Amino acid sequence: MDYRVLLYYHYTTIEDPAAFSAEHLKACKELNLKGRILVANEGINGTVSGTIEDTNAYMEMMKNHPLFEGIVFKIDEADKHAFKKMHVRPRPELVNLSLEDDVNPHEITGRYLSPEQFLEEMQDENTVVLDVRNTYEFDVGHFRGAIRPEVETFRDTPQWVRDNRELFEGKRVLTYCTGGIRCEKFSGWLKREGIGENVGQLHGGVATYGKDPVAKGQLWDGQMYVFDERLTVPINQVEHVIVGKDHFDGTPCERYINCANPECNKQIISSEENELKHLGGCTIECSKHERNRYIVTHNLSEEFVQQQIKWLEEQEVNA
Ligand SMILES: [Zn+2]
Repeated sequence: MDYRVLLYYHYTTIEDPAAFSAEHLKACKELNLKGRILVANEGINGTVSGTIEDTNAYMEMMKNHPLFEGIVFKIDEADKHAFKKMHVRPRPELVNLSLEDDVNPHEITGRYLSPEQFLEEMQDENTVVLDVRNTYEFDVGHFRGAIRPEVETFRDTPQWVRDNRELFEGKRVLTYCTGGIRCEKFSGWLKREGIGENVGQLHGGVATYGKDPVAKGQLWDGQMYVFDERLTVPINQVEHVIVGKDHFDGTPCERYINCANPECNKQIISSEENELKHLGGCTIECSKHERNRYIVTHNLSEEFVQQQIKWLEEQEVNA
């Protein structure tokens, strides 16, 4: 384990995100880091991988920067880089809530809950726990009993919550997300809208919760989706319940793959066996795609490919 993956964010004012990004990219490359960093007027949000030495140097640099005083890093041990390239990109906002009137977490945000407090409060019967990630993240792992907003992406969540207001009426509402950045805004938005009685957020997100020596990731079912090559990481140190379902046959599974059709690239959950049967495609069209990556990387014979396509066509007829 000579590498590390860092996850962090910091709400602060960055005057010129484009200029900052260019300079920051240079610094990251000098430290041989790889990853993805977003820079906006409202702050920075990033995940990078590198050797222990290089990531230490980066954290040191950031902590000593006047704009990032108090920045917190979540650190995962790793045996290699978790990204192929290094990107630093200027963005209009760090968290896309698509609100007419944006929320500034320095002005309004939910109560910060430590992992230990979160574990305790989530078990109270008057509490509802709201997942503020995307549904594909929820589907491979989430807190037991948490609400999964029926939305395509996170930016539709505010409208969904407005439409389902009664779920939160008179309740204590706790929000959580991967690293805590979304909750800073979303819990502030809930308070502003007057939704729920007492809004709290999991400080540091699930990434912190899974490492906490008291909470030990308890009541988290499944794995946590992450935005790097690892795809998922374990959280619950006490028990392991699988909640993911195989895209093809619905059996319990938590192995994420990208559809082999490079034009589709959709992330699905699939066993190794089903991936092979379907030639890595999420639909029959993707399986048959002329640039199917799975066929190439697995050196599948033309005979085998034809046999599987025939089988897939038969399945479709019978479905
Ligand atoms: Zn596909």
